[in-house]
Amino acid sequence: MNHPRNLEYQVLVGQSKTQLELFAESLGEQSYRGRQLFDWLYHQKNDIIDEMTDLPALFREQVKKSAIVHPLVQVTQSDSGSKQTKKFLFQLQDGNQIESVLMKEKDRTTICISTQVGCAVNCDFCATAAMGFIQNLSAGEIVDQFLQLKKLSSGPITNVVFMGMGEPLLNYKNVIAAADLLHDPDGINMGAKRITISTAGIIPKIKQFTAEAHKYKLAISLNGSTQEQRLKTMPISAAQPLEELLAAATCYSRENKTRVTFEYVLIKDINEKIEDARRLQEMLSPINCKLNVIPYNETGGVYARPDDEKIQTFLSALKKAPFPVTVRWSKGVGIDAGCGQLATKTG
Ligand code: SAH
Repeated sequence: MNHPRNLEYQVLVGQSKTQLELFAESLGEQSYRGRQLFDWLYHQKNDIIDEMTDLPALFREQVKKSAIVHPLVQVTQSDSGSKQTKKFLFQLQDGNQIESVLMKEKDRTTICISTQVGCAVNCDFCATAAMGFIQNLSAGEIVDQFLQLKKLSSGPITNVVFMGMGEPLLNYKNVIAAADLLHDPDGINMGAKRITISTAGIIPKIKQFTAEAHKYKLAISLNGSTQEQRLKTMPISAAQPLEELLAAATCYSRENKTRVTFEYVLIKDINEKIEDARRLQEMLSPINCKLNVIPYNETGGVYARPDDEKIQTFLSALKKAPFPVTVRWSKGVGIDAGCGQLATKTG
């Protein structure tokens, strides 16, 4: 991107229709030119200004002088053995770096995107936590992960999960703006139910999400079957206690008439016992929910993945649960692209 660094310039990806209308007006054009830009960027997914042929040549020159398209630059790509999972490292304009993951499975291609550089939540088992919190991503930096991965993916991206680096609900405004850009029918047009926002359990933000009646799916990382157990690995539970979290989740699923997903990272000697499974079943039965069990991906710390036999025993104990139980066998573990393995060295 040959753009003089010392000049003020706009970044186009991340801007809403209204913002692009104002941008066009600021260059002396009519506002509908901004809507045309929106269509090129998000609907046609073309980032070459010179190819935006329905825009006047003079306007195209002005856009090129005063704006860049992408807030992110791709640094590297790692492929897993099967090539079904790929991890991407992107650089922000300030030099900080983030990771995103592309996963193909049968007719589904899911991308896992980051919402922050580092994370403030400090879950003891998660590699991102070790980075500490560095900064929130802008809506543009979040949505650009989709646009750049879309260009690199052989087929359409069918699902987006906000489960990469960071705690999405602690960057609420930008995360919702990014989800809205992914969902906008005039733009990327991804169905709301194909967008999942995952949280460590920030109760006031879950309440806000419920009150604002967003249609995106919500996943809550439970990771423990009692308050005491959860506190051991997720210090955030002190301020966000389990009982209140479950009440907020219940309210969300009722008011938004939708199923909430609970994620449960299964960790050896921590939360893998049959009693944990039984408690989970009892605790979650009254809630319209689904449980996603994630066998722990090792990150070089003290925690370990339970033996396969233990994992099966845990799952068997949930056979009669009145809610669906799924297992996420992370696919990118060999390239540190599994859940909780994302961390970059900058910052
Ligand atoms: N902060 C958000 C989203 C990022 S973490 C959240 O907590 O939900 C995404 C998921 O990966 C969470 O369910 C988290 O508990 C899980 N996770 C974190 N570290 C992991 C690890 N090492 N192995 C498996 N899952 C992990």
